[in-house]
Amino acid sequence: MFSIECPQHGTTVLLGLSDIRQIENTSAGIHVHYECSCGHKGVWLTGRSR
Ligand SMILES: [Zn+2]
Repeated sequence: MFSIECPQHGTTVLLGLSDIRQIENTSAGIHVHYECSCGHKGVWLTGRSR
């Protein structure tokens, strides 16, 4: 589970694995492409390299 700021909800939304559309591993970290329950699509950046 992870939480994102959804502009369509106008609040913080908790998303789960089923909301993830694509995961990208980059040098800047892990980009998780998600789709909110309202249809908003965005990218959540996690796992920044130390
Ligand atoms: Zn939303």
